[in-house]
Amino acid sequence: MPTQVSAERLEAITSSILQPTAANGVQGRTGVFEEVIAGLTAMITRHRPDGAEVLRFPPVMSRALLEKSGYLKSFPHLLGCVSSMTGTESKIRALIEGKASGQEWVDALAATDLVLTPAACYQVYPIIAARGDVPQTGVIVDVESYCFRREASSELGRMQAFRMREYVCIGAPETALAFRESWKAKAEQMANQLGVPFTLAPASDPFFGRAGKLMAVNQVEQALKFELLIPVNSEEAPTACMSFNYHQDHFGTTWGLRTDDGAVAHTACSAFGLDRLTIALFATHGLDLEAWPGHVREALSL
Ligand code: AMP
Ligand code: ZN
Repeated sequence: MPTQVSAERLEAITSSILQPTAANGVQGRTGVFEEVIAGLTAMITRHRPDGAEVLRFPPVMSRALLEKSGYLKSFPHLLGCVSSMTGTESKIRALIEGKASGQEWVDALAATDLVLTPAACYQVYPIIAARGDVPQTGVIVDVESYCFRREASSELGRMQAFRMREYVCIGAPETALAFRESWKAKAEQMANQLGVPFTLAPASDPFFGRAGKLMAVNQVEQALKFELLIPVNSEEAPTACMSFNYHQDHFGTTWGLRTDDGAVAHTACSAFGLDRLTIALFATHGLDLEAWPGHVREALSL
């Protein structure tokens, strides 16, 4: 199987399987794209751990909650905040009708209590923390949300708005770590079923600024993040389609999450980038779903 995807195929995914809009990294999803997303969603659900609680979220979340999570310290450059119009009726009317000299309507905007959700699992921790201690053997949540990141580049697969499905584990340190390790193995099996070429590699998050470089190095050294990468734009720089994170006690300490022995809970998550996986499937198998290998069609119930 060739791993270098042809320029024609990449162009067809960019402008026909997806529908570009006036905003970079914001695309319309066509019916055929959604068929594959639905197949992937069902496949991930078939792997849902027993007893997992299902939670689905809209693409916005509490700004206070995100601030408390420490997101601003690590990724301020990626955050989108919801703003709305403030001021008197006459001021707003003058601005939107272009009658306020030297001012535009956006000058009347002020931040609200909402931000655009940057990762699905942020919403989960405070909800679980509010219920009290978790068993050392862990609680598992199946979560999905549309996410937003103010990405600087708009290469295929680097979207500003995309869907993220995650399995999140909150429990004793060894429970969270074992969960993360088991998902690395399961994800490799899933990638094989999907017939995509892949590598699984240690990774780091795109932390902000110069201090962020050190955080990224630490993350790799401590083996906190792994990614399953599939060639889309190039073989040299394959695309991260799933990630497997061990947060140690970061969210446990932040939200006062405790296990029933009184210790701070540790957390881990296994994240599936649904749009990226779908793009990788079209890049690997072509544009015609009917011509995809039988075992892939079967895995995706196509
Ligand atoms: P992360 O929190 O960065 O590990 O993201 C989790 C998953 O979401 C990644 O493995 C990707 O598959 C997906 N993802 C992250 N950023 C983007 C993006 N800009 N566009 C599309 N998918 C993304
Ligand atoms: Zn997560």
